[in-house]
Amino acid sequence: MQQAQYQLIIVGGGPAGLTAGLYAARGRLNVLLVEKGATGGQVLVTDWVDNYPGFTEGISGFDLMDKMTAHADRFGLQKRFAAITSLDLSGTVKSVTLENGEVLTAKALILCTGARPRKLDIPGEYEFSGRGVSYCATCDGPFYRNQEIAVVGGGNTAIQEALHLTKFAAKVTVIHRRGELRATKILQEKAFCNQKIDFLWNTQVLEIRGSKSAGVEELLLRHHNNEESILKVTGLFILIGIAPNTDILPLDQLQCDETGFIVTDDEMATSVPGVFAAGDIRSKRSRQIINAAGEGAVAELSVEHYLGNQAPDQPLNCSE
Ligand code: NAP
Repeated sequence: MQQAQYQLIIVGGGPAGLTAGLYAARGRLNVLLVEKGATGGQVLVTDWVDNYPGFTEGISGFDLMDKMTAHADRFGLQKRFAAITSLDLSGTVKSVTLENGEVLTAKALILCTGARPRKLDIPGEYEFSGRGVSYCATCDGPFYRNQEIAVVGGGNTAIQEALHLTKFAAKVTVIHRRGELRATKILQEKAFCNQKIDFLWNTQVLEIRGSKSAGVEELLLRHHNNEESILKVTGLFILIGIAPNTDILPLDQLQCDETGFIVTDDEMATSVPGVFAAGDIRSKRSRQIINAAGEGAVAELSVEHYLGNQAPDQPLNCSE
């Protein structure tokens, strides 16, 4: 039978992957975490995290992920920064093919590939992306000092980031397709009290218009009575939820829900034996940093169970 190089490969280094990595390295599994960019995932571009237990005053997304990475590093988590092109989950030994053609093998995998911002798919969105159209308030907010901008969406991300954008912009118009927000009450209250935030309810953005030289200049809107209007803004932040990062996953081998997120049981096991999933890539309702981290821990403990609690590959280090 083919020998696996690793007991476990973790695919993706956001909060779920790093926590799984911390548990696996601390549990002395022969584990490798593969990440295509920097560890931290979507949280890296989250301005402020106010609800991660233990950080009583809140913490920036970047600092939180820096700490999670350092924590896993303390236990010697092996990391490989490389893009994966494909995965084969079919045998008892799973294989992970990297961009350079190298094939890594493991007895178990934890998929933590996360999710990415959804697009509106309207005229002008692609054309002005990076020139007035943004999906990240933390990254691009400072470019809009004293300008009038808009945010699309009514969820936690849209409202939290609209509040963040008021630090820079003169005015932030939140454009929402319904008459009530999906965001939590505490965020709603903050936004309703903020003098710099205006709301356009039951309104859709039909088109983003501008010029090559100036970037975004105006939005064509449609209101609930089907009337159309123009809103003059220099920036549009599209914050309408997330889509799963499943490009490298063999979707013919994994059970997914109707929106493409991976279905698991309560122990994070997918439909394929030896393959687990954790974090935003999972089919679920709540996508919080804390539950991504929790699921990473559960997934790793499930891997240990799957591997049969076999003897550790590495010798005991008595200095710890
Ligand atoms: P979300 O909760 O799915 O909200 C997406 C918002 O965008 C909804 O208001 C939705 O409108 C709107 N929308 C979706 N498609 C649209 C379209 N094509 N055109 C116009 N509007 C559209 O996504 P999210 O705000 O990114 O949050 C994702 C997850 O992360 C959630 O579980 C959220 O709780 C969590 N999160 C938590 C925090 C925190 O705890 N501090 C911060 C950020 C995010 P409808 O309401 O009409 O569906």
